[in-house]
Amino acid sequence: MAKAKIEVPFVDLKIQYRTLKKELDRKILKALGDCHFILGPGVSKFEKEFAQFCNARFAVSTSSGTSAIFLALKALGIGKGDEVLTQANTFIATVLAIYYTGAKPVLVDIERDSYNIDVKKLEAAITKKTKAIVPVHLYGQPGNLGDLLRCAKKHKLKVVEDACQAHGAEYKGKRVGTFGDAAAFSFYPGKNLGAFGDGGIIVTNNSRLKDMLLIYRDYGQKKKYQHLVKGYNARLDTLQAEILRVKLKHLVRWNELRRKHAQSYTKLFKKLNGALIVPQEMPWAKHVWHLYVIRTARRNALLQHLKDNRIFAGIHYPIPIHLQPAFFDLGYKRGSFPVTEKIAGEIVSLPMFPELSKKQIKYVVDKIKDFL
Ligand SMILES: *Cc1c(COP(=O)(O)O)cnc(C)c1O
Repeated sequence: MAKAKIEVPFVDLKIQYRTLKKELDRKILKALGDCHFILGPGVSKFEKEFAQFCNARFAVSTSSGTSAIFLALKALGIGKGDEVLTQANTFIATVLAIYYTGAKPVLVDIERDSYNIDVKKLEAAITKKTKAIVPVHLYGQPGNLGDLLRCAKKHKLKVVEDACQAHGAEYKGKRVGTFGDAAAFSFYPGKNLGAFGDGGIIVTNNSRLKDMLLIYRDYGQKKKYQHLVKGYNARLDTLQAEILRVKLKHLVRWNELRRKHAQSYTKLFKKLNGALIVPQEMPWAKHVWHLYVIRTARRNALLQHLKDNRIFAGIHYPIPIHLQPAFFDLGYKRGSFPVTEKIAGEIVSLPMFPELSKKQIKYVVDKIKDFL
């Protein structure tokens, strides 16, 4: 009989469901029976548990990571006439969330090694209108937060961490979530902690901000039918909260597995003597490897080669924000952010999920060696 051909998906959510099926099914059926679908008791329980996970005082769950960033900025008073800084290489949702507040997103190029916002270029982007910075912990690793926070303090800017890819990541031994005024996380299914649909959460130590967020996410009401502000419908479903409560208990272990896989990739790539650029864990960071991103000048050919060998890789992100038609109105052009533009043509995200096997990692690396 022919040997079964090995295949390496980019992520595999089914394994995770199979391992936790019994407990998840029980919780889901219980939630269905309870019929307390909106803001049921599981929602506030999950918020307490997630706040604790981040060593934060409060957490307010939301309908998505995008709405978490948006509501955090909105509740901090960001709006029309303001400017908000973020990095040029990020998922479009970071910039959309800023745009929704009415503020103008202002992009800053990234560092060559951490792929996060280049703090040395921040000062030049600050104007009288600048009110906030949204640093992204891209791929699961925080950037140079120390210098960033010093800059924010000097210019009296609010800071909202976009931690949508970085649940459990650390900067100098402390988990992300409380470095700024607030932090936003996403529970999109493929994230390090994923729901069975959309979801998000805002973490903060600021009790007034927490109160505003509770109002904003629920039609602007503090009590039923008493509307203080023009709010939104942006809540997390009880069903998703129950699912996330089960999964949160495994997050530390899953992140450790991701770290182990990243180490394996990097170790195996060492023998290639620099034929491709491997990702770095910065000295201040504990990376949680939402994505393991390598770089090569022959990116498109490598992607095809991987696909031909049933290895599914991705690009995060192929077209920088400022070159997307949706944001042409920001007035940037090709050449505005050289580092972001250069890496956009070279990056490849390799398969990465906790249940990835040693054999799969070795197969991916072997196939990349063949290509090179
Ligand atoms: C996923 C993601 C978001 C948006 O989260 P959603 O839950 O999909 O709305 C925002 N920023 C970054 C960096 C992300 O990766």
